[in-house]
Amino acid sequence: MYSSFMTSKPFASSADLTDKQQTLEVLADGVYALTAEGDPNVGAVEGEDFLVCFEALATPVAARAWLDRLREHTGKPVRHLVLSHYHAVRTLGASAFGADVIIAHDDTRKLIAERGEQDWASELARMPRLFKEPDSIPGLTWPTVTFSDRLTIDLGGDRGELVLAHCGRGHTEGDLVAWLPRHKILFAGDLVESQAALYTGDAFHREWATTTLDRVAALEAEALVGGRGAVAHGREAVRAALGQTRAFLGTMLEETGRVRAAGGTLKEAFAAVHAALEPRYGRWPIFEHCLPFDVARLWDELSGVERPVIWTAERDREVWNALQS
Ligand SMILES: [Zn+2]
Repeated sequence: MYSSFMTSKPFASSADLTDKQQTLEVLADGVYALTAEGDPNVGAVEGEDFLVCFEALATPVAARAWLDRLREHTGKPVRHLVLSHYHAVRTLGASAFGADVIIAHDDTRKLIAERGEQDWASELARMPRLFKEPDSIPGLTWPTVTFSDRLTIDLGGDRGELVLAHCGRGHTEGDLVAWLPRHKILFAGDLVESQAALYTGDAFHREWATTTLDRVAALEAEALVGGRGAVAHGREAVRAALGQTRAFLGTMLEETGRVRAAGGTLKEAFAAVHAALEPRYGRWPIFEHCLPFDVARLWDELSGVERPVIWTAERDREVWNALQS
């Protein structure tokens, strides 16, 4: 029933089948980021005799390719795997790391229990290319250590510490960022994107655009690895990435709020948001893919639906066909 003639645009990222170029950058001694032209970013930080890895990618096979690149720089064992939030393309590759501890926010663990299975099916259908050998996934990833506010990892020797912090609700209920005060390097997860569109289908837009991004900005990072897109190097580029993220959310809130106040419909809100964002963001990765899900969630949020409705493969298609056709 979901044949392609029903929509003029291919569903989500299902037609995006070309591999992206991956770039490994050494941001400081023992601090690594792998970016991939708008595909999900990952990172790693060396402790004295161990590694902290940040994000797990969508499958163990995808994660092993990243670990092979990392192994050209360091052979230290992975002690901690840190997950910025619950989304499948960030978590389901975890088994490849052989980590002693998998760390996430308290609410990320709850979200995996509540909707991890549905999110897995949804993301697999939306972004099949990211799921390299999906049969290599052994099951949902369960964090073994969680926290509510802040957790600090002593990196040993004179390497300083890695601070994991929850800045408030944003991209999801349970986002965390990883902050290296000594180098002023921030791994922001999907709370900040750098020249990539925002996915806000599980978001809390009003908090994200204000208090949450205020807390991220207050760190005054000098290098920022967002969830997708290039590394922002230097204060100016970090400010630009934060500004781009805030402006995307601000435009969504303004346009959707305006249509609602005038008694309009979700479809009209989608058209208004699309028209307002397209000139600046239309060419950025996953813009067309994300926008229907983004506006649908924002419409709910402004209607008083406190927590995001669970995305299932069926609901994905319904919203897509209603808005992107
Ligand atoms: Zn995400």
